Amino acid sequence: MQSFLGHTDTLLNFFKSNQYSFQKENKSFQIDLPRLKKGMVSIQVFAIYVEEENKPDLALKRTIQIIDRFYQLLEQTEQLELIREYADVERVLSQGKIGAILSIEGAEAVFDLSALRILHRLGVRMIQLTWNQRNQLADGVGELAANGGVTLLGREVIKEMNKLDIIIDVSHLAPTSFWDVIKFSEKPAIASHSNCYTICPHPRNLTDQQIIALAEKGGHVGINFAPFLLNKNGKTEINDVINHIDYIRGLVGKRHISLGTDYDGISSTPSGLEDVGKLSNLHRALTQKGYSHQDIEDVFINNWLNFLKKWWD
Ligand SMILES: [Zn+2]
Repeated sequence: MQSFLGHTDTLLNFFKSNQYSFQKENKSFQIDLPRLKKGMVSIQVFAIYVEEENKPDLALKRTIQIIDRFYQLLEQTEQLELIREYADVERVLSQGKIGAILSIEGAEAVFDLSALRILHRLGVRMIQLTWNQRNQLADGVGELAANGGVTLLGREVIKEMNKLDIIIDVSHLAPTSFWDVIKFSEKPAIASHSNCYTICPHPRNLTDQQIIALAEKGGHVGINFAPFLLNKNGKTEINDVINHIDYIRGLVGKRHISLGTDYDGISSTPSGLEDVGKLSNLHRALTQKGYSHQDIEDVFINNWLNFLKKWWD
């Protein structure tokens, strides 16, 4: 079993607590090196999330501070390697190390194309145009009622992201922004940590039409373990995660499902999936549900790898 996690807020742990150590198991957080190994994680996306009090004016400053902390982490952790291109993915997998993809969650820091290009040079390979708010690029899902979409600068940024091979992540976008991304991006977009609206009607989740549009372009949806995005009762277990996997498989096929998790960005989890070290419980539950080994590997890692091979190689 190997895993590829499309969205985690682990970098913020360093700013939330000076007790947090990546090298040791920390019970108050969901991800660290020992538990990444236990969860057989081969590649993890590390999101740069700028706290609301720093937005928008201090977004770039905070982004630089978080990237600096990320580079310190890379230097301190021999087993962790930055992924910049597909060759890095292959090397990391063959050496049994853990690959780190740097992403931005809410691109207030991308004030123009120069910022985008510099962030790309620093290793950023995936961007969510917004978190929940509106910014200079697009409306986030918190602006749903305003019905705004991607701005003219946002369109230029999408075009440049396509050119630089920075993956466009539509999680947290308002629906109008989502459809603008589908329209203006030549390359497929992904939703790194979103679930199905039909199963759990929450504005952060994707409607059937949105999931179909992502899949038609070759993208995939990374399942989010946040209980409030899994069901309406509040109490969740592994089966709730499987319900969303089942649903996407039925709607668009098994090639368009991945794991987002949102670990270290969510305060509670389904029982049995309390931290990244417990991922094998999901693997086992899928096997018991009749999923083949191949189908499980596709969801856990292959769909992400195939996507990167196609668009980065
Ligand atoms: Zn998020």
